[in-house]
Amino acid sequence: MTITEDRQPTTCPAWCVQHERVEDGTPEDRALVHRAALREVARYELRVHRLDWDDDEPPWTEIMLDDTLLSAANARALGEALIAAADAVGGGARIT
Ligand SMILES: [Zn+2]
Repeated sequence: MTITEDRQPTTCPAWCVQHERVEDGTPEDRALVHRAALREVARYELRVHRLDWDDDEPPWTEIMLDDTLLSAANARALGEALIAAADAVGGGARIT
């Protein structure tokens, strides 16, 4: 069961625009999920979210690129690789 909270707790990250409590599964799976605004970039959907677990586990911050989940390190590596590829091909790409 998922419950959407009406008020924003003081622990929200600055980018949080919506959050909900996830109560599914075992007690270890219960968390407050903070979500950033959805951005559309070059035909991809990009969203950041953070899971604040009910237990003492540190929060998980993740980046969704369409249906692919990336860590911050993976997102940086992908961004650098994309920039390098774009620099290598220059202005010759057909796809916009
Ligand atoms: Zn929040």
